[in-house]
Amino acid sequence: MRPAVRAPRLGCIADDFTGATDLANNLVRQGMVTVQTIGVPASDERLDADAIVVALKSRTIPAADAVQQSLQALRWLQAQGVEQVYFKYCSTFDSTPAGNIGPVTDALLDALHGPDQGFTIACPAFPENARTVFKGHLFVGDQLLSDSGMRQHPLTPMTDANLVRVMQAQTRRRVGLVARDTVARGADAVRGAFATLQQQGVGVAIVDAVDNADLHAIGAALKGLPLVTAGSGIAIGLPANWGLQARTTTSALPPAGGRCAVVSGSCSAATQAQVAHFRQLGLPSFQLDALALAAGSDLVADALAWARTQCGAGPFLVYATAEPQAVRAVQQRLGVAAAGELVEQALARIAVGLVEGGVRQLIVAGGETSGAVVQALGVDRMRIGPQIAPGVPWTAVESNLCPGEPLHLALKSGNFGGTDFMSQAFVMTQAFGVLETAP
Ligand code: ADP
Repeated sequence: MRPAVRAPRLGCIADDFTGATDLANNLVRQGMVTVQTIGVPASDERLDADAIVVALKSRTIPAADAVQQSLQALRWLQAQGVEQVYFKYCSTFDSTPAGNIGPVTDALLDALHGPDQGFTIACPAFPENARTVFKGHLFVGDQLLSDSGMRQHPLTPMTDANLVRVMQAQTRRRVGLVARDTVARGADAVRGAFATLQQQGVGVAIVDAVDNADLHAIGAALKGLPLVTAGSGIAIGLPANWGLQARTTTSALPPAGGRCAVVSGSCSAATQAQVAHFRQLGLPSFQLDALALAAGSDLVADALAWARTQCGAGPFLVYATAEPQAVRAVQQRLGVAAAGELVEQALARIAVGLVEGGVRQLIVAGGETSGAVVQALGVDRMRIGPQIAPGVPWTAVESNLCPGEPLHLALKSGNFGGTDFMSQAFVMTQAFGVLETAP
C-alpha cells in the first residue's frame, strides 16, 4: 500500500513550459506519478507525487532573473522534501553565452554545495527525439546542432555544437567530458569518470549519450547526486533509482469535448513543416502578420472574429510562424526581445479568446509561446496524459475561463512532432475518458 501522500523524490526545475511537460511525460512513462506546477506555488502544501516539475519561463529572461527564480523553485522543492534536483533545459541546449544554463547551474550548485563546490552533469541528449551527444557534440538528427535549423532561432541561435565550449562560456566552473566509450561500459564506468573529473577540478561534465541504453547507464550513475542538469532524456534512467518501473498503461484524462484549435508562435523548422501540412490538408488557418501587428493593427480582434466563423468540427489554426527572413524583418524593426514579446502576447490573448469562445482542446506550438498562453489562461497545475509524439503529452488543466469543464492542452516545443502533428493530435483525444486508468 502506498502512503496517502507520496514523498516526492525528484524535484525538477524546467526553464520553459513545453520543456516541463516533455520532462513530466518521460517521468510518467517510467512509472513516476508526476505533478507539474506552473511557476513556484505560493503554498507549501505537500503534493502527492513521486516527482514534481516546476515550470518556469526562464530560458530567455536576463540571467540574474533566471537565477533568482530557479533558487526560489529550489527552496520550494527542498521544503517538499525532494532527494534530488533536476534542472531541465532544451534538448537543443538553447542558451546564449550570457546564459541561462551556466548561471543557473552555478547558482544551484552553490546553493546545494557552497560557493564553487559540487559537481553535476550537463546532457541534453534525447535519442528518441533524435538529439544525441557524441564526443561532446550535439546532433539534431544527422546534423550538428550548428548546421540545424537552430542556427536561425529567433531568441537563442545555436552556432556551435561543441557543448564543452558552449557550457564553458557560461559557467564559472571547469567543464569536462564523459565520452561515449566510457558510457558504453556502463554505470560503474560513468561513476568512475565522475570521480576522476572531480579530482581534476571539473564541476560540470558534459556526458555523451546516443541511445536509451546510455541514458539508463547514466541514470544509474546519477543515483544520490544532489543536482542533475539535462534535457528530458536523462529522466528515463532516474525512476529506477527509487525502484519505480515503466508502466504499460498511461494516465487517463477526463473526456475531451468542445472545439479544437492550434495556436502557433514557433518558427522552428518542424513547426513550419507542420503549419504547411495543416494548410495543405485544406484545414482552416489564419496567419498573424507580425509586421502589421508591429505597425499597430488589431490582429487579435481580427483573428478572433475569423475564429467565430469557423463552424466545422475539425481543428483550425492561428499562426505567427514565419520563415527566418520574415522574422528578421520584424526583429530589425522592434528588437529581438520586443518582437518575441509582442507576438507571444498577441497569441496569448487569442488563446484566451478562443477558450472563451468554446475551444476546449488546444495545441500551442512554441516554448515561449506556450509559456505566455498558459499564464494568460491562468493555469497553475497540469495533469499529464498520454503522449502524442515524443516529448509532447496531452494534458488536462483547469482554467477560470471554463470553470468545471476540463481544458485539454498540448504544449509543443518548436522542433517536436511529425509533419501531421497538428491534425493527428486531435484524433487521439476522442479516446479520452475511456482509457484504462493507470494502476
Ligand atoms: P520554439 O519552441 O520554436 O523555440 P518559441 O515560442 O519558444 O518557439 O519562440 C519563438 C519566438 O518567435 C517567440 O518569441 C515568438 O513570439 C516569436 N515569433 C513568432 N512568430 C514571429 C514572427 N512572425 N516574427 C517575429 N517573431 C516571431
